[in-house]
Amino acid sequence: MTHVADLPPLRRLLNAHDLSPTKALGQNFLLDLNLTARIARAADPLDGCHVAEIGPGPGGLTRALLESSAASLTLIEKDLRTAPILAALAETEEGRAKGLRPLFEDALTVDLLEMLPAPRAVVANLPFNVATPLLVRWLRDLWREPGAYRSLTLMFQREVVDRIVARPGDRSYGRLTVLTALSAAAAYRQFDVPAQAFTPPPKVTSAIARIDARDSLPGPLALFEAIEGVTAAAFGQRRKMLRQSLKSVFPDPVALLEELEIAPTARAEQLPPEAFLALAKRR
Ligand code: SAM
Repeated sequence: MTHVADLPPLRRLLNAHDLSPTKALGQNFLLDLNLTARIARAADPLDGCHVAEIGPGPGGLTRALLESSAASLTLIEKDLRTAPILAALAETEEGRAKGLRPLFEDALTVDLLEMLPAPRAVVANLPFNVATPLLVRWLRDLWREPGAYRSLTLMFQREVVDRIVARPGDRSYGRLTVLTALSAAAAYRQFDVPAQAFTPPPKVTSAIARIDARDSLPGPLALFEAIEGVTAAAFGQRRKMLRQSLKSVFPDPVALLEELEIAPTARAEQLPPEAFLALAKRR
């Protein structure tokens, strides 16, 4: 039986299957197997995890994940042109051992909690056009089930990683920072990946972020929805004082802010995540 290491080089597969990258699907492929191995290592430890890889494309990162300690690997890909390549990966010794399952679906609509048993992890070089909505979807899952994912190891545009790991007062501090901070135990920047590493190269530098889950649920799902509402109002008008920007979500924002010992004249970017949590609890 074929081993992953015996498969043809990725560039040859792209040509053989006429898999020219399309912009509409955010296709910027990684063909350097040293780099995909480094990304898979950033997701470690995956021991015993049921891993979902989103957008495997020609399967460079998939090859690395097949060599990992994951218990199983499920692929969610929108582009049916990749089917023969992913089927060949499923037929390898490592693919069989991990029960590799390529599913041709839209990651924005699949429910990974229903699809995979715990413990779960997500690893992906995400399509840039849907990367943020996908992250918010998985953060939301962390409020649906305790420790829904052990970890999320994801490639974004570097500017998105700046937002995920920002601190109050930073230029990048915003809604995504607060949602991540309140949903996860920790979020780290792992390493940058230059544009030339991709085929075709995107216009911007990329970076890997890793988000580790908390062991217990931070609160009911309704609280996450309240945090989404409060942060949307506060950061939607980030130059305005909170007493003004929160008018759309609270009848008397000044009284509430004073009660919570938050200056009504403060701006959203000055408030730590815990202050947004306190506000959301009052919705
Ligand atoms: N993992 C591959 C690699 O590193 O070379 C490909 C990464 S490429 C940036 C993004 C992949 O996501 C593409 O294969 C694309 O077809 C797929 N994709 C785009 N939108 C998707 C969606 N909504 N659901 C699932 N896959 C999607």
